[in-house]
Amino acid sequence: MNTAVAPLLRVDALTKSFAEVQVLKGISFDLRKGETLALLGSSGSGKSTCLRCLNFLEKPGGGSVTLDGERIGQKHDRRGALRWMSDTELAPQRAEMAMVFQGFNLWPHLSVRDNVALGPIQAGRMPRAEAHALAKAMLDKVHLGHKADAYPERLSGGQQQRVAIARALAQRPKVILFDEPTSALDPELVGEVLGVIKELAEEGRSMILVTHEISFAREVADRVIFMDGGHIIEQGPPAEVIGRSQAARTRAFLRQTGGAGEGQA
Ligand code: ADP
Ligand code: MG
Repeated sequence: MNTAVAPLLRVDALTKSFAEVQVLKGISFDLRKGETLALLGSSGSGKSTCLRCLNFLEKPGGGSVTLDGERIGQKHDRRGALRWMSDTELAPQRAEMAMVFQGFNLWPHLSVRDNVALGPIQAGRMPRAEAHALAKAMLDKVHLGHKADAYPERLSGGQQQRVAIARALAQRPKVILFDEPTSALDPELVGEVLGVIKELAEEGRSMILVTHEISFAREVADRVIFMDGGHIIEQGPPAEVIGRSQAARTRAFLRQTGGAGEGQA
């Protein structure tokens, strides 16, 4: 395989059901190294389930996820049959796909620096002093180095989300998955978080971003995927999918979110 052109992440025919309800109906897409992919779609279309299946926070019903040539969550046993990995086996793979959620989930009893350093320390990947230095560097990256000793409750929601992004970066992931990272924020705090995400995109991080910030997706994403009812309806460059979508479902969604008409500008 020529790894120079192989996608970093390959998602093939991913399915997932909860009880009788099929929520993902065969999702396939690639993420190339350095690419930012925006995942759009109305509420309930399966975006969060898709992200959670990528790193096996949810076990997919079928299909495969391959990161850097390595099958996620499943491996061949000695007789060559595929079997599910244990959580212990999964942990290092999960760390390669860091998640940033809508809620920041910082530990209230830990300083900002300790929140960011915790992952690498717990993973046994580095001594405490080294993890603290890494945490400080990642906090500088999200412009919060001066808050390293503060506790989360003293920070605004936008600052807390930036700490959560620093925590994700400290895992040194190959891919960062964002699930509506600004949806829980007051409007005036959205910009500072989007600003950090944009900087990460510009420095060539590989990212998948679920968002309702359509104009941001259009500006920052290399490619856009539009999901509806557990299917991918469209994927392509933002100017095509957001700017002049041919699909009725996409156009209806863009109208609802105020993203329609941007293509005419
Ligand atoms: P989105 O993120 O696009 O809003 P989700 O992936 O959260 O969509 O949900 C897709 C569908 O799957 C919804 O109908 C939701 O109710 C259902 N669903 C999600 N998680 C679960 C779960 N743990 N158990 C049962 N149904 C779920
Ligand atoms: Mg969701």
